[in-house]
Amino acid sequence: MSKNEAMAIIEPAASRVRDPKSGRSIWMAKIIQKSSIVEEQLSVTLALAEHTEEEQQRIVEAFRMQLGNIGWTGSVDISIEKSNNIKTPPPPKDPVRGMSGPGMGAHGGPIKKLPIPGIKHIVAVASGKGGVGKSTIATNLAIALQRQGRTIGLMDADVYGPSLPTMMRVTGKPIANEQNQIIPKEAYNIKCMSMGFMVEDEEPIIWRGPMVMGVIKQFFQNVAWGELDILIVDLPPGTGDAQLTMIQAVPISGAVIVTTPQKIAVIDAVRGVEMFRKLDVPLLGIVENMSHIDVGGIRAYPFGKGGGENTAAQYATPLLAQVPIDEGIRLGGDMGLPSALSSDPIANPFLDIARQIDEMLFS
Ligand code: ADP
Repeated sequence: MSKNEAMAIIEPAASRVRDPKSGRSIWMAKIIQKSSIVEEQLSVTLALAEHTEEEQQRIVEAFRMQLGNIGWTGSVDISIEKSNNIKTPPPPKDPVRGMSGPGMGAHGGPIKKLPIPGIKHIVAVASGKGGVGKSTIATNLAIALQRQGRTIGLMDADVYGPSLPTMMRVTGKPIANEQNQIIPKEAYNIKCMSMGFMVEDEEPIIWRGPMVMGVIKQFFQNVAWGELDILIVDLPPGTGDAQLTMIQAVPISGAVIVTTPQKIAVIDAVRGVEMFRKLDVPLLGIVENMSHIDVGGIRAYPFGKGGGENTAAQYATPLLAQVPIDEGIRLGGDMGLPSALSSDPIANPFLDIARQIDEMLFS
C-alpha cells in the first residue's frame, strides 16, 4: 500500500485527536512523522519529544481509539520519536470567508487563544441554519453529561435569539461577585449564562457585529465559571463573526454539528463543518435531529433520509445520534424541562451522545 493510502487512513483519525501542547489536532500540529501499511499492519511514528509521558500515553490511546472509530480493523504499531524535530506548520492559504485561518485573527493579525482557568474542555454546538434544534441538543447534552457525573456549564452564545432561559427554566439578572465577575445562574446543577438574562423579554435585540464579539468575549473571560469538566457553548446558527470570534478566543476541544436530514439543511451544515475544519477545531460528530417520527408503530421520514449519515461519512466523523421528532422533546423545551432529565426512552439519544463525547474528551 502506498504512503498516500496510509495517510488517507491516518488523517481522519489524527484530525480528531487534540494535542494538549498546541491546542491543535495532532494532524495539524505535524505530530505524525512516518507511516506505512504492510498487509494489515499500520505503523505510525509520532513526534512527541516535548510531551510528558502522561501526555504521550493519552495521545497514543486517543489515536488508537480514533483509528478504530474510522473503521481500521488491522493491527496498529505506534512508536514515539523522542528527538525534537517538530515543525510549526504555516497558516493555510485558503482562509474561511477570506478572513482568517488557524492562528490568525479575524482581521489577519496573530491571535492568542487563552484557556479559561478551571475549565477542562470547551465544546461548541453549532448548526448551519436556525431552527434545526441546535439549542435543544445543547441543553439536553448539558443535562445528559451532568447526569453522567460531569460538572457542566452552558453558555448561550446565541445573542440574537437566546433560548437557554426558556429551555432551562432560569431567568433573572445575574449578579456580580467581589471580583466583579458575573455569577452564572444555576439550573439542574448546570451553570448557565445567556444574553437572555441581560435583556427584558420581548425586547428586540439588535446587536452590531462588534458588540456580539464583545459579549462573547465577556462570557468567556468575565463569568465566574469555577471548575468545570465541560463548558458547552450554544453558538448562533451559521458561519459568521460570532462563530469566528469564539473559535479564535479560546481553545475548543471539539465541535458538534446539528443538522436535520433534508438537503437544504445539510448544505448549510457542511459549510459549518468546513469552517471548523479550516480553523483546526476537531469535529466530535454530527447529530441528525428530527430524523424520523414514529406514529402508531409506523416510522415516517418527513424531512427525508440519510443527510446526517452522509455528512458524517463524508468527513469520517461519527453520527452521534439520530434524534426523532417527538412532541415530548418540543414540550420539554417550551416548559424548561429538558427531555434528557427523563427516565423514559425519550432521554436515550441525548444520553448516547453524551457517552460518546465523554469518551472522546476524557479517555
Ligand atoms: P435552533 O437552536 O436550531 O434554532 P431549537 O433548539 O430552538 O432550534 O428548536 C426549534 C424548535 O424545534 C423548538 O420549539 C424545539 O422544541 C423544537 N424541536 C427541536 N428538536 C426537536 C425534536 N427532536 N422533536 C420535536 N421538536 C423539536
